[in-house]
Amino acid sequence: MDQGPLVLKEKPIVGISACCMGSPVRYNGKGWNLLESIGREKGDFIWVPVCTEVLSGMGVPRDPIHIAGDSGKDVWEGDARVISRGRRDLTQDILEGCRMGAKVLEKANVKAYVYLDGSPSCGVYRTSLKNKRLGKPPGVFGSYLYDHGYFLIPVLDLQSPLRWWDWKRRLLAYLWLEQASITNKKDIYDVWYRYKFICQELDEPWAREKGHELANLKKDPDEEYIHFFKKEILDLLRRPSKSNKIINSLWKNYSFYRRKTGETIEGILEPDTKRNITTVAKELSMMERAAFDKGVFFGTSPVVYRGNR
Ligand code: SF4
Repeated sequence: MDQGPLVLKEKPIVGISACCMGSPVRYNGKGWNLLESIGREKGDFIWVPVCTEVLSGMGVPRDPIHIAGDSGKDVWEGDARVISRGRRDLTQDILEGCRMGAKVLEKANVKAYVYLDGSPSCGVYRTSLKNKRLGKPPGVFGSYLYDHGYFLIPVLDLQSPLRWWDWKRRLLAYLWLEQASITNKKDIYDVWYRYKFICQELDEPWAREKGHELANLKKDPDEEYIHFFKKEILDLLRRPSKSNKIINSLWKNYSFYRRKTGETIEGILEPDTKRNITTVAKELSMMERAAFDKGVFFGTSPVVYRGNR
């Protein structure tokens, strides 16, 4: 089997809350260009900005809205309403705007979305991705995207080089697997060979159990099994990792790289060395580049994008 990384050649398409890409569409006429923080990497994606409040027919400026009830999910289920500061009930307008936003994303073949934390429209529980319920409740559009399996990235994490590195490598792995054709046991084994390291980093007990289960597969599994196998990994990839786990994975992969090539990479530090997260992110990028150039598998980041900038 080829030992290098899997390569995405098509530019990944990512949806984004329009106000985070500089569009001044917030209720108060503001917007921020938060993509600036990822620098040149901005050009590695096709961005699809959406503002569901504007699609609801609300202009700029407008009254701010809030959810009267627990969350955006309850709005879809008819158990909560969306109310403006001027006490207008905008529930149906917002639902219509969200349906339109969803159509735009579908038409553009978007599978991932960068959202504004805390918004009653675009927000998602930051921590719902880790199965905890802290922070502001999901907005109406955010809960739709979460329930429909979108890969959701909180925009503020683009400001941290290490968090962004973590989101990006999981996003590329997510997009590759999402469109992968898996039809038999061999395909499953090929995918697992590529993905088991990142799965181990994200959820060691689950990955161990899955590994045993796959080792005992007797014959080609049916469609339902394949669908579930894919879905479990996709769901896992939606969950952020932790700095200490990433640093350990880096060291493990670097040790593998040194064994394979007999070479060292200047600048990669021992796991116990104290350094800031910007330095760690740089080390990860160096490791990624060196592994790609030498055709050595870097399991914790199994998919890379190599198109034209
Ligand atoms: S609906 Fe979303 S994109 Fe529009 S202003 Fe609110 S957070 Fe930004």
